[in-house]
Amino acid sequence: MDNDAYSNLISRLREIGQIDSASALLDWDAETYMPKNGLAVRAEQLALLARLSHERMTDSAVGDLIARLDEPCDDEVVETNVREIKRHYTRATKIPTSLVERIARVSTVAKESWQKARENSHFETFKPHLAELVDLRCQVADAIGYATERYDALVDEFEPGITTAEITRLFSSLQAPLSEFVHAVSEAPSKPDPSILQRKFPIETQKLWCRQMAAEIGFNFDSGRIDVSTHPFCSGSAPSDVRLTTRYLEKFFNSATFGTLHEAGHGLYEQGLPEAHVFTPRGQAVSLGIHESQSRLWENFVGRSRPFWERYYPQCQLAFSDALTDVSLDDFYFAINAISPSLIRVEADEVTYNLHIIVRFEIERDLIGGKLAVGEIPEAWNEKMATLVGIRPENDADGCLQDIHWSMGGFGYFPTYALGNLYAAQFFARARKDIPNLMDFIGRGEFAPLLEWLRVKIHQHGQHYRASELVQRVSGRALSIEPFLDYVSDKFAPLYGIDD
Ligand code: ZN
Repeated sequence: MDNDAYSNLISRLREIGQIDSASALLDWDAETYMPKNGLAVRAEQLALLARLSHERMTDSAVGDLIARLDEPCDDEVVETNVREIKRHYTRATKIPTSLVERIARVSTVAKESWQKARENSHFETFKPHLAELVDLRCQVADAIGYATERYDALVDEFEPGITTAEITRLFSSLQAPLSEFVHAVSEAPSKPDPSILQRKFPIETQKLWCRQMAAEIGFNFDSGRIDVSTHPFCSGSAPSDVRLTTRYLEKFFNSATFGTLHEAGHGLYEQGLPEAHVFTPRGQAVSLGIHESQSRLWENFVGRSRPFWERYYPQCQLAFSDALTDVSLDDFYFAINAISPSLIRVEADEVTYNLHIIVRFEIERDLIGGKLAVGEIPEAWNEKMATLVGIRPENDADGCLQDIHWSMGGFGYFPTYALGNLYAAQFFARARKDIPNLMDFIGRGEFAPLLEWLRVKIHQHGQHYRASELVQRVSGRALSIEPFLDYVSDKFAPLYGIDD
């Protein structure tokens, strides 16, 4: 191996990583503490850093270094880094700079028109901008190239290696059993009372409570923070500095508690990545889908489990005594696990959520594939919601205008949310086999065995394995819908009194 070329490449990459992490921190600040008049200056700072990062990544010197490292190498760190840098470089240099700039400009205007369109529930306002973004994204996909479907080239940015055909196969086999299950739930004899979660939960108490929950599961506050933002997120500069945000609603218990467990799940992954490889692929998360599997695992498989609340409900009841004194553990557990068809994705329960994603995936795939026109989106959306989720939006604000992603030209991102649920189920099923008393540990508030398992099996590898390879290695089989469907029926059928 050409050692000079490799160390030169890595030092370039670390500098790009430092630029990107400075951007992430400025972004975090913009969402949390920045005064509103700071926006114009911040936009310029971020644009400059984005340009510097892009210029450095696409510098022909990077291409020359990669070319010098083109022979096989048996050091897995080198092999991982060279493979992934090559992938990024090839992708970035295939897209003409003029196209990148055009997308950035159109997105700024499109985001504004989307906000207006959503406020007035008027799709026509957004339509021309969306049409332009779809067209530009198709140009990006064509520039990158693809084997079978144009959408492959876009998904690959977020979930490297997966294909449209594979997602279609997984989602279409997931759809019918989930839709049937949701229907069975709606006719089930037992019903939860979710209104108990809409009583008064003082925000100051929630702040202490959420911080405690994140610390309980292992989030390290010496290497991270929790703050408040309108849309919760987790952004990591490095394993030693991970920023979570959450959102507190006085009249809705779930928002902050499960939002915090979700973001802390992302945070545990970031804190568990190998610090020695910071700013290089060997020290970074595999994909958005794998990232989402970590958040979903802690939020739902742990945080919405019965043992978890057997351990924490007495404390929770004491902390929020005005709201919960007369609520039994059974009623509370049922309420936090309520399943009901709803219009808005971000408010959906863990079962119907996947159906919301399938609606978006099918529309995106057909749009980018040229099988659906932009003008046909509202009707396609409403039709699919009625068939899959069992509820039909009455206006576009509650329908196809609800999410911000398309206004930013983000096509190919949505599938990773549902893939995250499938990965999480498959990982968790395997963890339960490897740690036979896992649920007892959770019931005692002991999370170290699970966290250690995730560290060893997933976190410490960075991008060494592609998502499909990682799933195969961890669980002994390829990604499948079965673990998720088993989890759903094992947990919810008894809760709702449904015969399987
Ligand atoms: Zn997430």
